Amino acid sequence: MSPIGIFGGTFDPIHYGHLRSAFEMLQALRLSEVRFFPSGDPPHRGSTYATAQLRLEMVRAAAAGQPGFVVDDREMRRDGPSYTIDTLNSLRKEHPDASLGLIVGMDAFLGLTSWHRWDEFLGLAHIVVAHRPGWRAPDIGALGDIIDRYGTHQIDDLHDKTHGKVHIHAVTQLEISSTEIRELVAAGRDPRFLMPDVVRDIIVDNHCYT
Ligand code: ATP
Repeated sequence: MSPIGIFGGTFDPIHYGHLRSAFEMLQALRLSEVRFFPSGDPPHRGSTYATAQLRLEMVRAAAAGQPGFVVDDREMRRDGPSYTIDTLNSLRKEHPDASLGLIVGMDAFLGLTSWHRWDEFLGLAHIVVAHRPGWRAPDIGALGDIIDRYGTHQIDDLHDKTHGKVHIHAVTQLEISSTEIRELVAAGRDPRFLMPDVVRDIIVDNHCYT
């Protein structure tokens, strides 16, 4: 039972940090696919910089041609805030017997307890944490507890069970962030080599961060 990887984000814009993590997860965890979910109205932050439509276009362009990369726009089609719990519930309905793995970076994982109904996530999916530069796994508090109780080093556990495990996985550390890319573009510099050229072209053509 190969897990479906669920990779949500603002992707404002998508960059090689996201893509490399997703690709390494796809291969190392033997996922059936990684599904990208660009958020419509992210509850954690103010408005986005590029429009939802443009962010979706960038994610689609970045994922095109990579077997196993799938783009899912349901969060953009939903009204109101993009809550992960709603995405997990709707995926679970569509795939009642599949293994689902919610992929988050360590920075996102450390903020997990502020996510809407986060304590229901493990009842629906596994949580797979991608190590990011400069972040350590928590060993105390609510997150330390769930790592203690549900943590596993065994990739097979993610295949044998449909949900309920936490797996921390080191990925190649690419110190790239969307924030830095937006600042760089706003300063008139070229974001080439931080993202696929097709994504850079969309940014240049639409002047979305200038
Ligand atoms: P921003 O700088 O605007 O906050 P970001 O670059 O962190 O954006 P998001 O779209 O907010 O990107 O992140 C989506 C997911 O990708 C999160 O789980 C985040 O932890 C992860 N992620 C972001 N950048 C990287 C990176 N360089 N390497 C690995 N994972 C990353």
